[in-house]
Amino acid sequence: MEHLRLIIIGAGPAGYTAAIYALRSGLRPLLLEGTLPGGQLTQTTLVGNYPGFPEGVEGFDLMDNMREQAERLGLETRSATCLRTDLSARPLRLWLDDGGELSADSLIIATGASPRYLGIEGESRLRGKGVSACATCDGFFYRGKTVAVVGGGDTACEEASYLSGLAEKVYVIVRKPFLRASRIMQQRILENPKIEVLFEHNTLELLGEERLEAARLVQRKGEKDEREYTLPIDGFFLAIGHKPNSEPFLPWLPTDGEGFIQTEWGTTRTSLGGVFAAGDVADPRYRQAVIAASSGAIAAIEAERYLNSSVGCNPRLSILSTSGTF
Ligand code: NDP
Repeated sequence: MEHLRLIIIGAGPAGYTAAIYALRSGLRPLLLEGTLPGGQLTQTTLVGNYPGFPEGVEGFDLMDNMREQAERLGLETRSATCLRTDLSARPLRLWLDDGGELSADSLIIATGASPRYLGIEGESRLRGKGVSACATCDGFFYRGKTVAVVGGGDTACEEASYLSGLAEKVYVIVRKPFLRASRIMQQRILENPKIEVLFEHNTLELLGEERLEAARLVQRKGEKDEREYTLPIDGFFLAIGHKPNSEPFLPWLPTDGEGFIQTEWGTTRTSLGGVFAAGDVADPRYRQAVIAASSGAIAAIEAERYLNSSVGCNPRLSILSTSGTF
């Protein structure tokens, strides 16, 4: 079994930034890339709020630059996903989907989050046949067609705006009588003539055999005012938030009700010494690339201090007890 001082799990802004900081501090981390090298930003278009890019930057390019920067510093990567861990003893142990097994003194978990689905009838059957959680990946197939986006947050507005550049008509299905998105994003879709927001609507079922043909919707304005109808659509895009990719660590680390790894306030420290969590997997609130990147930097600084401390050097001392700080 290969042993490393530091393993970084995840190849999004948090993982690459952690790698850049760790490499510059003299550590030689291994970064596990998982199934989506570059993370969620590779699935988006122009990122307008990452500092340092006055004209904005394509999400894919931003991640490509981060990877290149880390590789120039000598980053070693492995194209594998961590399926299972044993963090109960030292060294920390990881089992990978390529059959490999690794051990480490320290771990930075930067596994990000994945899109949520509604769990309604027809949704999983029609996935890839009209149902998608990524407009930038699949929008191309809906040129001149009618699509719906479900959700009322920034992601839904961003996806709807993007799709309006391709599709003939875009419905946004929102369960509340208002949007949760930021003002600028709300304005963008409410003023777009191709977009129609269906407030107080829920999707009951998706219809179609070979491909998506329609969505069965219900409009609820009050307890007694309820109307069900079928809306013909070609594409149905989920934008109802994300769930953290924390499963391999659940037996060992405290999480909140939704599975986000809990860290000590203002740090990336988890309840286990030497185990740090950075980026969306530990961030139920903000989900911003710049915040993920900065928490990756914090994690690497903390990992370096941990590994160079007497605790990190002495495996017998390296599981720290915590009491109510998470
Ligand atoms: P949010 O959690 O902000 O919004 C999720 C939306 O989905 C809400 O409108 C919610 O409705 C709705 N929803 C959740 N579950 C269901 C359900 N079962 N049925 C129907 N609707 C449902 O997620 P986002 O992904 O939009 O954003 C997450 C974070 O990322 C936010 O902080 C956001 O600001 C940020 N972000 C920023 C961007 C930017 O700055 N460019 C771009 C994208 C995201 P309800 O309101 O009723 O709960």
